[in-house]
Amino acid sequence: MTDVALIEQLKTLVEPGKVLTDADSLNAYGKDWTKHFAPAPLAIAFPKTIEQVQAIVRWANEQKVALVPSGGRTGLSAAAVAANGEVVVAFDYMNQVLAFNEFDRTAVCQPGVVTKQLQLFAEEKGLYYPVDFASAGSSQIGGNIGTNAGGIKVIRYGMTRNWVAGLKVVTGKGDLLELNKDLIKNATGYDLRQLFIGAEGTLGFVVEATMRLDRKPQNLTAMVLGAADFDSIMPVLHAFQNKLDLTAFEFFSDKALAKIMGRGDVPAPFETECPFYALLEFEATTEEVAEAALATFEHCVEQGWVLDGVMSQSEQQLQNLWKLREYISETISHWTPYKNDISVTVAQVPAFLHDIDAIVGEHYPDFEIVWFGHIGDGNLHLNILKPDNLSKDEFFAKCATVNKWVFETVQKYNGSISAEHGVGMTKRDYLTYSRSEAEIAYMKAIKAAFDPNGIMNPGKIFAL
Ligand SMILES: Cc1cc2nc3c(=O)[nH]c(=O)nc-3n(C[C@H](O)[C@H](O)[C@H](O)COP(=O)(O)OP(=O)(O)OC[C@H]3O[C@@H](n4cnc5c(N)ncnc54)[C@H](O)[C@@H]3O)c2cc1C
Repeated sequence: MTDVALIEQLKTLVEPGKVLTDADSLNAYGKDWTKHFAPAPLAIAFPKTIEQVQAIVRWANEQKVALVPSGGRTGLSAAAVAANGEVVVAFDYMNQVLAFNEFDRTAVCQPGVVTKQLQLFAEEKGLYYPVDFASAGSSQIGGNIGTNAGGIKVIRYGMTRNWVAGLKVVTGKGDLLELNKDLIKNATGYDLRQLFIGAEGTLGFVVEATMRLDRKPQNLTAMVLGAADFDSIMPVLHAFQNKLDLTAFEFFSDKALAKIMGRGDVPAPFETECPFYALLEFEATTEEVAEAALATFEHCVEQGWVLDGVMSQSEQQLQNLWKLREYISETISHWTPYKNDISVTVAQVPAFLHDIDAIVGEHYPDFEIVWFGHIGDGNLHLNILKPDNLSKDEFFAKCATVNKWVFETVQKYNGSISAEHGVGMTKRDYLTYSRSEAEIAYMKAIKAAFDPNGIMNPGKIFAL
C-alpha cells in the first residue's frame, strides 16, 4: 500500500484533524532532545481514547507499520525518535488527571499529563509528587514511565517505578491490560506492570497510570557546599546522611558552574572558587535539624573536605540554589553535548570517577568536559561539549570511539551504561556492557510475547 493510502486509513481511526503530516509537525514530533538522528516519520496520530489507541495498534499489525509512542520528547537517548517512516502516536489530547483518591493518595492520569501538571495537582490536594527534574515542565507521565525517570529526589523517593500504583496498557498485539489494579499488596504472580516501566514503548502503550502521591515535605532547605576535590564529596555525603534524612544530594563541577554564571541570571552561591560543588537538601522541620546541618557543615570544613558553603534561608534562596544545578542541562545544550549517563554503587563512585576521568583526560584532551549528576545515587552525567570547529557528525564519531573505554570501565565496576536516560538508539550498541547475552535473550523473548510483529518502537533498546 502507498504511504498516501496508509495515511488515509489512519485518519479513519482517530477524530478528524488528528493526523498530521505537514513538515513542521513531522520534524517536531519525530525527534527528542538528542540531535543524532534526522526525524522522518510518516505521520503523527493523536488518539483521544483508549479505543482509538487499540484501533491504531491493530491497524499497524495488519499493515506492518511501526509505531513510536511519543511523550514530551525530552528524552536523552533517542527513544522517542522516529527516523524511519514510523507513525508517531502522541498523547497531547489524552492529558487529564481523571480521578483523585484521598485515602489511597493516588491520582489517575492519562499518559499525556505533564509531570509538572501532576506535581501541581498533588500540591492542590496538599500532597506531593516527588519525581522531579529540569524537564518536568515538558515531559509526560507516559514518557516518565517509558524511561522509569529518576531525577533530583531519587535519594529519598526512588525512581518513577516507586510511584506507579497501577497501569492500563495496550500491548503490541492491541490487548488492553489492567496491571496491578492500584493495589499495595498483590501476590498473584508476575508483576507485568513493572515490565512496562522503563520499556521505552517497546512492549506497548501506557494509556492510563495511577500514580501515588506522598506527604508534602516541610520547610525544604538547601545547602551548596564547595568541595576541596572530588574525593571529598563522598565523605561529605556520608557525614550528612549520618545526621539528616536528605531529600537530594547532587554535584557539579566548576566548569558546570561557570556555564551557569555565564547566563547572568543566577546569583553565585559564594565567592570561593572550588573544583566541585555539592547541593544537598533536607526538611528543616525543627531548629534542631537546622543546627545539626550547620554542625555537620562545620565538621566537613574542619576535615578539609569543604572550603565554603551557603544554606538557604528563604524559598527564593532555595530556588536560586537549585537553579545552579537544574539549569545545567539546558544551558550546555547550546554546545550540542555528547552525553553519558553512567552509574555504579555509591561506595564505588570515587574510584570509578578517577578511572573515567583518566580515560576522558587522555582521549578528549581538547574537549571541554562538564561533570554533574545525582551523585547521592551513584549517577554521574559526563557531558562532552562540541568545539565550534567540528561538525556534529565528526564530533559524535570521535565521542563514540571513546565510549568503548568508558563502558569497559562501567563494566569493570558492574555499573550501568544508562542510569536513567534509557537505551533508545544512542546506547543500544553498548547494551552488552551492562546486560548479559542471556538477559538480552530473555528481554527479546518478553518483547516477542507482547509485540510479536515488532511494531512497537523498533530499533529502540535492541538494534533492528
Ligand atoms: C533538561 C533535561 C533534564 C533532564 N533531567 C533528567 C533527570 O534528571 N532524570 C531523568 O530520569 N531524566 C531526565 N531527563 C530526560 C527526560 O526528561 C526523561 O527521560 C523523561 O522521562 C522523558 O519523558 P518524555 O515525556 O519527554 O518522554 P519522551 O522523550 O517523549 O519518550 C521517552 C520514552 O518513553 C516512550 N513513551 C512515551 N510515551 C509513552 C506511552 N504513553 N506509552 C509507552 N511509552 C511511551 C517513548 O517511546 C520513549 O521510548 C532530562 C531531560 C532534559 C531535556
